[in-house]
Amino acid sequence: MTSAAPRRLDALVVGAGFAGLCMLRRLRELGFSVRVFEAAAGIGGTWYWNRYPGARCDTESLQYSYQFCERLQREWQWSERFAAQPEILRYINHVADRFDLRRDIEFNTRIAGARYDEAAGDWSLATADGRTIRARYCIMATGCLSAPLTPAIDGLDDFAGERYYTSAWPHREVSFAAKRVGVVGTGSSAIQAIPLIAAEARRLYVFQRTANYSVPAHNGPLDPGYERDFKARYAENRARAKELVSGFLCHYNRQSAFEVGAEQRRREYDARWAHGGLAFLGAFSDITHDAEANRTATGYIHDRIREIVDDPEVAELLIPNSVVGCKRLCVDTDYYGTYNRDNVTLVDVRSSPIERITPAGVVVAGREYRLDTLVLATGFDAVTGALKRIDIRGRGGLALADKWRDGAGSYLGLGVAGFPNLFTITGPGSPSVLTNMLPSIEQHVDWIAECLDHMRESGLAVIEPTVEAQDGWVAYNEETARGTLRYDCNSWYLGSNVPGRPRVFMPFVGGLPLYIEKCREIVADGYRGFAFEPLHHTRGTAAPVA
Ligand code: FAD
Repeated sequence: MTSAAPRRLDALVVGAGFAGLCMLRRLRELGFSVRVFEAAAGIGGTWYWNRYPGARCDTESLQYSYQFCERLQREWQWSERFAAQPEILRYINHVADRFDLRRDIEFNTRIAGARYDEAAGDWSLATADGRTIRARYCIMATGCLSAPLTPAIDGLDDFAGERYYTSAWPHREVSFAAKRVGVVGTGSSAIQAIPLIAAEARRLYVFQRTANYSVPAHNGPLDPGYERDFKARYAENRARAKELVSGFLCHYNRQSAFEVGAEQRRREYDARWAHGGLAFLGAFSDITHDAEANRTATGYIHDRIREIVDDPEVAELLIPNSVVGCKRLCVDTDYYGTYNRDNVTLVDVRSSPIERITPAGVVVAGREYRLDTLVLATGFDAVTGALKRIDIRGRGGLALADKWRDGAGSYLGLGVAGFPNLFTITGPGSPSVLTNMLPSIEQHVDWIAECLDHMRESGLAVIEPTVEAQDGWVAYNEETARGTLRYDCNSWYLGSNVPGRPRVFMPFVGGLPLYIEKCREIVADGYRGFAFEPLHHTRGTAAPVA
């Protein structure tokens, strides 16, 4: 963007992943002027940054895509059941070109601060390189899993070999051939990467603090018949998916795990295991909220791990001691089997934490594991991290990071009291990471766009959630979460992976259909819980680009 030609902007969007692109297209369609700012050099968000070996979607490709354009969803051809990162990146770049989105996006532009001007009723964003841009509305499309965590391990910067984060993988081939490689972390990214690194490296040490549940993907080329049938009823399939808690279409068994006998239960789990993917959790209706039912599922997975992994001691280390589904369930290709390889060693850093990293390797229980390459798969400051890393100031200069010190409060995950005209896409308190993110993103984008349109039509200039509505929503979500097994372990849904974080369940746990219904009701009831100010209370429309 040049500052030579000042023009008025209605909205600024931060982030050019699936959410930011969709928001840009939708607002443009409604005649709003929009500018998008993206820290990366390209489009794609998650799929731009996470290029590690094995990076792949856990949601089936045919459902992990936009639904706003019938022709787009019919014409795009996915090659695999679960698309790999390069293909998803190609898809999102195709969308950007097809809808001519790039001309309104500034790449390599990190937003460092955002300040609300109460007199003007608008936002001014500060770029990391010192420019400011103003507009009436600010929409944060900064992502739920986009603020990588750096582990606090002594000596990390002393490591003399190659060091890579899965969340910021280099844009070039990384070779592990003939290398001694260490992977720190065993969450979803590590579980995808480990089998591929093991196949190439001379030696692989996996440093595991917490074992995680994983189910096989059974990925493969997309069956042409399945694709044809699915696409023939795309709209209907999408509508049905939105009636399911997770927002993706799969068969949810309505029976309790105890409505059937042990043998039939086993057959159901066998069928789900053989089918592959996250549908495993749909085997019985009570797995996610009844501890006994959950134990039938964990028992089944424990048996599979013991069956797959040859060394009984290694198998026991790989068996999680939590309920399944309280953390994000991982989906893998030969993860557990990888531990049967001669060149792979699992190092338990739960009983003996990593002492320090030296120039030559990783020290655990007094032993130095000598490494050429260190891969850190240490997760994200999820849901709120990217927002808190921007200095966002609302009414009276109030900092969002301070306001959220005791837990993130938001109304519907769309807006925050004290921060007028600021919207968050898939913010805390919305279903976001507990669902197929694409329909959740599109639902937020539509809600925000229709809200701005309504304000324009009604001569309104400022919108802000009331404190009462926000507190009510936070309390409702917390109460709902406490009734589920998801509250029973230390997960990133609860912020447990970030030292010092208050234990607050961040995503809305009630499922996508209930959430959509609540959003609709609130709009139908005159945007219940939001306060508006008319146009004349502010200085007019958005200020020029600076
Ligand atoms: P992102 O894709 O995270 O994009 C946010 C963008 O904002 C980024 O490009 C970032 O650079 C930019 N940004 C952030 N802060 C700033 C700033 N201050 N200034 C400028 N730019 C900024 N979801 C699923 O539904 N199914 C899956 O199978 C699945 N698999 C995943 C696998 C991995 C490895 C990861 C990390 C996530 C996965 N997700 C999955 C979640 C995924 O993040 C979402 O599906 C989706 O891509 C989110 O899109 P987004 O636009 O909201 O956020």
